[in-house]
This record gives sequence, structure tokens and C-alpha cells, in this order.
Amino acid sequence: MFDKILIANRGEIALRVVRACREMGIKSVAVHSTADADAMHVRMADEAICIGPPAGTDSYLRIPAIIAACEVTGAQAIHPGYGFLSENADFVQVIEDHGLTFIGPTAEHIRIMGDKITAKDTMKKLGVPCVPGSDGGVPDVASAKKVGKELGYPVIVKATAGGGGRGMKLAPTEADMESAFHTARAEALSGFGNDEVYIEKYLTKPRHIEVQVFGDGKGNAVHLGERDCSLQRRHQKVFEEAPGPAITPEMRARIGKTCADAVAGINYIGAGTIEFLYEDGEFYFIEMNTRLQVEHPVTEAVFGVDLVREQIRVAEGLPMSFTQDDLEVQGHAIEVRINAEKLPNFTPCPGTITQFHAPGGLGVRMDSALYDGYKIPPYYDSLIGKLIVHGRDRPEALARLSRALGELIVDGVDTTLPLFHALLAEKDIQTGNYDIHWLEKWLEENL
Ligand code: ADP
Repeated sequence: MFDKILIANRGEIALRVVRACREMGIKSVAVHSTADADAMHVRMADEAICIGPPAGTDSYLRIPAIIAACEVTGAQAIHPGYGFLSENADFVQVIEDHGLTFIGPTAEHIRIMGDKITAKDTMKKLGVPCVPGSDGGVPDVASAKKVGKELGYPVIVKATAGGGGRGMKLAPTEADMESAFHTARAEALSGFGNDEVYIEKYLTKPRHIEVQVFGDGKGNAVHLGERDCSLQRRHQKVFEEAPGPAITPEMRARIGKTCADAVAGINYIGAGTIEFLYEDGEFYFIEMNTRLQVEHPVTEAVFGVDLVREQIRVAEGLPMSFTQDDLEVQGHAIEVRINAEKLPNFTPCPGTITQFHAPGGLGVRMDSALYDGYKIPPYYDSLIGKLIVHGRDRPEALARLSRALGELIVDGVDTTLPLFHALLAEKDIQTGNYDIHWLEKWLEENL
């Protein structure tokens, strides 16, 4: 059993892990950059160690500094949160080489799923339906055009190493292929150091539906239903809900079982998310994330489980604390991502929080590392909080979200909060009638 865990992250997710550790009686170690000396995760953890200057590459991404912090504090395991080193297979290898435990999947699984071509290949073999596309990487424009003709336009050129919505280019017709191919490749090389691209049929009106899976590393796995994360800006999620408004219990059971069987088949350990595009009643796999997702709290709300606690348990070699039969959707949950960004262009807006007041009451959860007087540093992601609400059904969750947004105060910096006030007034949001393009179109017309 672990008695001390180091958290290789910052912000709200570092706090999230501290909270799970505290409830389990495990001590927590925060690491931080010099810019984060006053951060909430540093204040809340049992111990804190400075690992370098502000830039992520000099601190939160510096593997030797993190390993040294483990050795100095005697932490036996590392929780990576999301982002930073959470999907870095080399990091996992180094951790294991030092006799420490990574709270997450194996280096091999991270490597397979981190490359979208091998991920698709693996999933196809495991019986998971995929978006029609090229058979692996596409080396040149001529091959790209050949694939485009076979699939039928529009198609999308995607970086195999891509993430965060980058390295993706749409080719509406064959005339656009040459430029889409070269741009995607150049972005892939500069963003991910790997210029390999592949091509997929571009789905025109899908929803983004992702299935939460969880494995014990010994061939047992369950699914915890789906999240609908279709409301996106530049392929980045903004608003997430569980269960998906367009998914029936029968569909959930079917796609859920396919996913659970797939990860059981590879002895997957810990939390994972299998992402699909969903159109006309069919699911098409796009990628798997081998970490805890930003939006995991909506799943925790409707299933009444603590996913971080489960991650820690299976990393200790314990069995999962639930079986598939124990897992039943209860009610409806919605999360909104609050970013320190100025509308309408979503320009990052670091600065000092002059007043912060979190909403409360039945069914309201606020995951945030803000406090009065906190200075949001300019070096990191602009996510400053997540508001999660849970109700007996979708209308109740929406009413609760509206009520909670009304109570929330974040003063001193611009945030994306006005966006959510406006969205809640939209009929399509009230009825759950939206696809992955809905928000971009709405932003164009309304902001
Ligand atoms: P990333 O790893 O950068 O997040 P994903 O492959 O998960 O990339 O895709 C992110 C988003 O891009 C999806 O949620 C969807 O909105 C859009 N997208 C990706 N592939 C397709 C496709 N074949 N057709 C239509 N939209 C797509």
C-alpha cells in the first residue's frame, strides 16, 4: 500500500488528487514551478517541492526533477493528472526503472494509444468500429488523393501523434487536398516532432461520444457509460454531459460492452477513455486517451464513484471496488469549463483574482484552484475551474447549472462564464440538439 503519492501536475487536477489521497489516508506531495509557489495545490498537499522555473518544459515536464522529488520525499507512486507527462510512455518507463509506481496504464499501452494509427489498428482488431480511413500513414499527396477518391470527399488529414485538436486539416474536395496534406504535415512536425499523417472520412454532423473504461490490469474491465462532449471550439471541449442526450440505455450497454471487452482483452489497467464520433446511430472510434480526462467528474456524478481513488487502488494491486452490475446511471450531470479567457476571441487572460466565490448547494461541485488574491500565471493552460452539476434528470441539471452559475463569482480577470449564461438560453442546448459543429456556428453568429 502507498503511504505517500507525488502529484506531477498543477491546478485543479492536482487538488483533485490531493483530495482523493487525503480521504484514503495517503500523504500527498505537490511539485511546483517557481511561478506556482503560492498555488492552491502547494498549500493543500502535505509536502511541496519546487522543481524548476516557470516554463512547463523546465518544471512540470522535467522528468529527472520529478524523480528526484520522489526520492527526497519518499513518495512511492506518481499520479500524473492530465496533460503534461500523463501520456508520456518514457516517463512511465523511468518511473518503473526507479522502483516507483506510475498511477496509470503501462508504457506499452500509452505508446500504442498515443499513436493514432496504431491505436486504430489495435481497436479494429479488438472489434471496435472505426472511422473509415486510410490504411495507416499516407506518405505523399498522390497517395492522399487516391485515398480521398476511395473514401469520397470531404476527408480530414490528421497527425498520428496529434492532440489537443492540433495537426488536423479538412479537405472538402480534391482541389484542397494538396494544401491540407502539407499544412497538416507541417503542423504535425512542429507540434509533435512527427510528421506522419493519416486520412479519415470527414463526418459532417456527428456527436462526440466518449466511453469511460476502467481496467484492473488482470483482464477485468468495466465501462462507466458515455459522456457527450460535442460542444467544442477548435476541437476543444467546452461543455460536457453524462449521459449523452442522444444515447439510449440499449446503445450504452452495447458500445460500453464493446469497449470494456476491448480493454479487458489487452489487460488494460486504470482509467481510459475511448472516443467516438456518433452519427446516424453508428459509433466510429477516433482515439483513446490513456489518462483521467478533464471531464471525468460528470461520470463520477452519475455513477457515484471516485475515479481517482479507483486509479490508486488498482495501482496498488487491489481489485476494482465495483463490478459492471453495480454501475447504474443515476440522473444527469453537466460540466462547464471555466477558462481565464476574454470573449469573443478566447484570448488568454492571466491576472489577479480579486474575488472568488464558489457556488454550493445540492448537486453542485466546483473543482478549482482559485482563491481570493490568487495570481493566475501566464505560463500554463487557461482552465481555471470546472463547475459540475448533478440532477435527477437533464432539465433539473440544466436548472441547477443556471442557478449555480448565478452564484459563482470570479472577479479580476475575464472568463468564459458569459458564454455559459448565453448558451443556457438556447433552445438546442435545452433540448440536447447539437453536434460537433453547433458551437462554432453559434459563436460565429452570436459573438
Ligand atoms: P485530438 O487528439 O487532437 O483531440 P481527435 O482525433 O480526438 O483529436 O479529434 C478531436 C475532434 O476533432 C473530434 O471531437 C471531432 O470534433 C473532430 N474530428 C476528428 N476526426 C474527425 C472526423 N473524421 N470527422 C469529423 N470530425 C472529426
